[in-house]
Amino acid sequence: MDLTADFHTHTPFSHGKNTVLENALAAKERGLSAVAITDHGFSHKCFALKAGKVEELKIQCRAAERETGVKVLVGMESNIRGVSGLCDLTEENYGDFDIFLAGIHVVIRYEHFSDRKIGWRNWARKKFGLRPSSSLVRETTRAYINAIEKNPIDILTHLNFQCEADVVEIAKCCRDRGTYLEISSKKQHLTDEQLAAVAATGVRFVINSDAHSASRVGDTALAEKQIARVGIPLSQIDNIEGRYPVFRFAEFKKRM
Ligand SMILES: [Zn+2]
Ligand SMILES: [Zn+2]
Repeated sequence: MDLTADFHTHTPFSHGKNTVLENALAAKERGLSAVAITDHGFSHKCFALKAGKVEELKIQCRAAERETGVKVLVGMESNIRGVSGLCDLTEENYGDFDIFLAGIHVVIRYEHFSDRKIGWRNWARKKFGLRPSSSLVRETTRAYINAIEKNPIDILTHLNFQCEADVVEIAKCCRDRGTYLEISSKKQHLTDEQLAAVAATGVRFVINSDAHSASRVGDTALAEKQIARVGIPLSQIDNIEGRYPVFRFAEFKKRM
């Protein structure tokens, strides 16, 4: 598969192994036109990008872009911090970033004590193979939908990773708001049936590596297998075959 750009990679600014420059060099080697550096958002308790390091991140991205000729986007994989949809990336920081990813993670500072359910309770149920209650699925779905509606999120990462939500409702919301759904090549998060159902909504996809080392930047192998099994039309994926997505965060910032 001919990937145009990888929009989800990590560096030591959170818990990735290789530097911004090394990820950019790997992107160049794989013939990508762009790579996004998307370390974990501020509220992650173990692996957060520190607010005080954002300037350094920007400097390193610009330098890597100059050195490699690959577009290096300053990004964040923001945490969804509660049912309200609150994200780490808020308007006061929009000027520092080029691309806005968001997903649900567990070890974070939640907005409210009661929001821990979308992380920990979901995590525990997945871990022990238990079905989540319908109210937990509803609350998790609400968290995703509120996040998409209240924030100009470009890409929703690893939907249903360590949690369970109504993926079709979320895909419809992504479709209507112009948020991309990620098909991850790191790990399969949706079943084939779920991926088929979300594709049927007409949502647009991007394929991302979620690389935590430069050796995986641009890797599409796992995603390709699932896409072939499910029969997703390649025309529904906007970062392959020379296509480049139109991202809502950049459009939103033009209007600020
Ligand atoms: Zn993640
Ligand atoms: Zn990630």
